[in-house]
Amino acid sequence: MLKKIMYSLWIAVFVLFVFYTAKSTNFNTFLDAVENKTFDLRQSIIVNSDYKKANKNIIIIAIDDASYEYILEKYGEWPLPRDIYAKIIDYIEAQHPKSIAFDLMFVKSLRSKPGADAALAETFKKYNNIYTAMNLDNQSVEVRKPIELPTKLSVKVTNYSKNIDFDSLSFLNCRSILPEIIKNTTNIGMINVSRAEDGILRKMPIFVKYQGKFYPQLAFKVGLGLIKQEEGYNPQEFIIDRNSNLILNNRKIYIDKDGGAILNWYGPTGTYLQIPLYRLIKAIESGEKFSYNFSNKIVYFGTTASSLFDIKTIPVAKIYPGVEVQATYVNNLLDNNFIAKVDKLITVFLGIILAALIGYLVINIDSAAIVTLSFVSIYSLYILFAYFIMKYHNLWIGIVYPLMLGIIIFISAFVVKYIIKSRDFEQQYLLATTDGLTELYNHRYFQEQMKMQVEQSKRYDVPFSLIIIDIDFFKKFNDTFGHQAGDAVLHQVAQLLKQSVRATDIVCRYGGEEMSIILPNTSKDVSVSTAEKICKRVASKRFRLNNYQESNVTISLGVASFPEDGQTPSEIIDAADKRLYQSKHDGRNRVT
Ligand code: GH3
Ligand code: MG
Ligand code: MG
Repeated sequence: MLKKIMYSLWIAVFVLFVFYTAKSTNFNTFLDAVENKTFDLRQSIIVNSDYKKANKNIIIIAIDDASYEYILEKYGEWPLPRDIYAKIIDYIEAQHPKSIAFDLMFVKSLRSKPGADAALAETFKKYNNIYTAMNLDNQSVEVRKPIELPTKLSVKVTNYSKNIDFDSLSFLNCRSILPEIIKNTTNIGMINVSRAEDGILRKMPIFVKYQGKFYPQLAFKVGLGLIKQEEGYNPQEFIIDRNSNLILNNRKIYIDKDGGAILNWYGPTGTYLQIPLYRLIKAIESGEKFSYNFSNKIVYFGTTASSLFDIKTIPVAKIYPGVEVQATYVNNLLDNNFIAKVDKLITVFLGIILAALIGYLVINIDSAAIVTLSFVSIYSLYILFAYFIMKYHNLWIGIVYPLMLGIIIFISAFVVKYIIKSRDFEQQYLLATTDGLTELYNHRYFQEQMKMQVEQSKRYDVPFSLIIIDIDFFKKFNDTFGHQAGDAVLHQVAQLLKQSVRATDIVCRYGGEEMSIILPNTSKDVSVSTAEKICKRVASKRFRLNNYQESNVTISLGVASFPEDGQTPSEIIDAADKRLYQSKHDGRNRVT
């Protein structure tokens, strides 16, 4: 039990240390970047599994490279004259689409013909399901005076979430589109995007901020129009709850900390039916009425031409036109399948549970192979879980943090286990070889060492000696001062013996109040003088019996040496014993 607590304490200290180091560096940014990559990977696999189907009602009218060339050729200018757009709108509206959205900005250009621009502006008045784009930016106010936008384009947003920060979506300037269009419609949305540091577009803003007001994103505005048509829901105010969810009728859209909604992708480019603009123009001009079916469709106009540079990189495709991003956004809104991030606390909680399980296994299972296998299996299962919960529930549950935690625990549990094991071993070895009272080597160790000394001395042809020591009249001493005083003296005599010999000499408790010293590589005469020195030191020392008493004791010693006194351990011990007995007989406090 105590050991388990020790393990946990050690690991906790280790983990805290690692986290402290991690926090003081850019480690977290690194982990976030890796987490984003796991998101991209999950999305790519889900997209390939063909589980998610894109909404068939979304059609893209693509201004592709061919259309761009066709327009330049036929009309001698770019952008396409606005009256042509007006014609196209009339043509599509005749089939009653749900909405028509332009991921294009009808800005005033040098070539703008007043009549042509007016014709387009007129269509915005005529049909209430046409949407167009505007863009906020941070252009210097010296170059372009910021325009004032009519209040009708803004929305009221109440944000109860403390996590969302609209700073990166706040802009200083705005490029105006044709004023007649602004006058004629409220169906204008902003087309600002939010990109991650690695340049990959994973989120799209819902609202952007300009001059203290919120403006809706174009696709959000288009989606709202459709929700209004289909569900009759037309909010006057948007509420973001404490959990960062935008409440939209029965929908909840999770908004990430930088104000973006995380898009759920349906596939690489080409997910939506694409009609090149030039084909549509040709069909209109040749008077074909039913070449394309726009009835009940959401028709999105946008550039896909590489020469027009509205190309993004998204998790499931390197090259993806902006208009398809818009279409995906509307699709997410209609099918209510934006991605929601699982609360970080839940991820941390899951991570801790997994890590605790790993720690438990490392400490309790001896086989490193089995533990490693369990580790790999547990985290593979977790990654599968994270994959399926994204696939079926549109939830983004963190993989990198729990995995990091798991690896840290895995390694630290191994390190701690190793450290404690080796310490345990040392402790057990010490316990097995020493005597508790005197802190000298015990009898068993003494016997082992005797055997080894005999063998070594024989092999290398060197002498060694043994001194056996017995405290004089110790029985009487105990009787006089008590057993505890006897123990204290025994301990102090033992320490004095250790201090009086070389580090290579082995001092043991032979038994009772008898002690022995093995002196490797030492001849008889040297050991006899050592014994005499010890005898004198003991006799002259005052030993503390307790807090208020001191006393003298004497010892008697017997010395025997290899090879002259015996060839085996027992012969040598016998010889030393006999000499000790002689010392006693001769009056004690002496060496024989
Ligand atoms: P001598 O050796 O001088 O002949 O007399 P002695 O009184 O020491 O005789 P003996 O060696 O027969 O008695 C040993 C005594 O040492 C018996 C016992 O009371 C005491 N003794 C042995 N081990 C311990 C111990 O661990 N602690 C204490 N306090 N006394 C011990
Ligand atoms: Mg004795
Ligand atoms: Mg004795």
